[in-house]
Amino acid sequence: KPKAIIIGAGIAGISSAIRMATKGFDVDVFESNAFPGGKLAEINTGGFRFDAGPSLFTMPQYVDELFKLAGKNPTDYFEYERLEEICRYFYEDGLKLTAVADLNKFADEIETKTNSTAKEVNTYLKKSETIYKVTHKVFLERTLHKIKSYIHWDTFESVFRFGQIDAFRTQSEANNSLFKDKRVAQLFNRYATYNGSDPYQAPATLNVIPHFEFHFGAFLPSKGMYSITTSLVKLAEDLGVKFQYNKPVGEIKYSAENKLKVEGIICDEEFIKADVVISNLDIWFTYKNLLKNFPAPKKLLQQERSSSALIFYWGVKGIHPELGLHNILFAENYKAEFDSIWKEKTIYHDPTVYINITSKYIKSDAPENCENWFVMINVPSNSGQSWDVLIAEARENILNKINRILKKDIAKSIVFEQILDPRSIEAKTGSYQGSLYGNSSNNQFAAFLRHPNFSSKIKNMYFCGGSVHPGGGIPLALLSAKIIDENLNIPKS
Ligand code: FAD
Repeated sequence: KPKAIIIGAGIAGISSAIRMATKGFDVDVFESNAFPGGKLAEINTGGFRFDAGPSLFTMPQYVDELFKLAGKNPTDYFEYERLEEICRYFYEDGLKLTAVADLNKFADEIETKTNSTAKEVNTYLKKSETIYKVTHKVFLERTLHKIKSYIHWDTFESVFRFGQIDAFRTQSEANNSLFKDKRVAQLFNRYATYNGSDPYQAPATLNVIPHFEFHFGAFLPSKGMYSITTSLVKLAEDLGVKFQYNKPVGEIKYSAENKLKVEGIICDEEFIKADVVISNLDIWFTYKNLLKNFPAPKKLLQQERSSSALIFYWGVKGIHPELGLHNILFAENYKAEFDSIWKEKTIYHDPTVYINITSKYIKSDAPENCENWFVMINVPSNSGQSWDVLIAEARENILNKINRILKKDIAKSIVFEQILDPRSIEAKTGSYQGSLYGNSSNNQFAAFLRHPNFSSKIKNMYFCGGSVHPGGGIPLALLSAKIIDENLNIPKS
């Protein structure tokens, strides 16, 4: 059997392992942590369970297709439900909006409670669908780096319809020109943060993101987000994939003869031979640490990184019915918040606070009469800020904001606390500067400035994960593995 080595058991690494196993490879996954999942991990302590990273699950079909590819029944491994209620939004002026899966109901609520109309919402969602239709095949599902991707009819069609993807104004400009009520524009501007970008800089093409949530749906795995990781690891193991934990890979070896070709890896000072190597590491560290003597693609690696996050995992006493699974407490001045993050590279004093509480649905995630609050704000990626000072200030500001908007002082109800910040995100998941999604999408060319899924210089060397094409977030990370699968040169062993 030909041998494939996957470096990193992030979600794209696991799904690459599954795909290689179904292609008949003998697959080994080397992971530096003691557990799989990378950013898609969990904290399980003190009676509370938290999903450590992602909390919003979209496009579950990309997970299901891995089970089907292996000839298995997805529900034997993994279950999830579509959410009726997507997110509760709270504003400083007292406005509360609830985004629900029933779009007519959502549009009606906006018409009733704000100065915007249901028609504006429908126009927006239609536009979001159009952008999806024009972009998804070309920008998300195929490599941008092979000629064959461009000789498809739908590529020509996309070129003809390029004007429809709204690439020449910012997301905020587009949304503020459509919505009379600026609070509704703010709600839709927030989608830029789904890939760690700034709506005041990023192209309005990012208005595609709500289509994933409102058309395809928002979901919750019945055992929490981490069960995406554990059920895919189980599938991989059933297919014979071997996971080696606590095994940081030190180097990727390639032959230096006239044509460069991957030869294997070095781990614990031992050479392990492979026909194919797939790196799931952040591309920045793949070049910096594993391909040290290889000329790195400087332009791609120097792109601005996406934002990072500061997360408080709080075990909170009491049940808080005004909150749902996903909740947003908006900053009053959204533009100032993004200017702080992107221009001043610091934490804004009135940040938008995201609160995710899985115990609303999964009762075993918190002890009786308690809730597991995952409280996150967007922060800049790490460039050496005085994080300890910033974190202490942010904690106060978040508690004050919760107090102001929800009218509750929860400080004394916090019975458990753990914190994740840009430094620990980098240390725990190998993400350069602690960015959540690889490069930012703050300019029109971002899609073309992500690293391809293969090396054009080293034969049989591939790259998957949120820092390479097509981008960050679980669905796109899964697609990166699929693109490799579809472009693989099966080596003769
Ligand atoms: P990663 O998760 O980056 O994992 C890479 C793996 O490589 C790690 O396990 C690491 O330990 C390992 N590794 C590193 N160096 C080595 C080495 N030398 N040898 C061996 N192994 C190594 N996405 C969503 O879709 N929805 C969300 O709601 C969402 N929210 C997020 C919130 C947070 C706080 C974070 C951190 C991320 C969030 N994301 C979200 C993004 C999503 O988590 C990522 O895009 C996705 O999980 C990235 O997967 P990946 O395959 O790139 O691997």
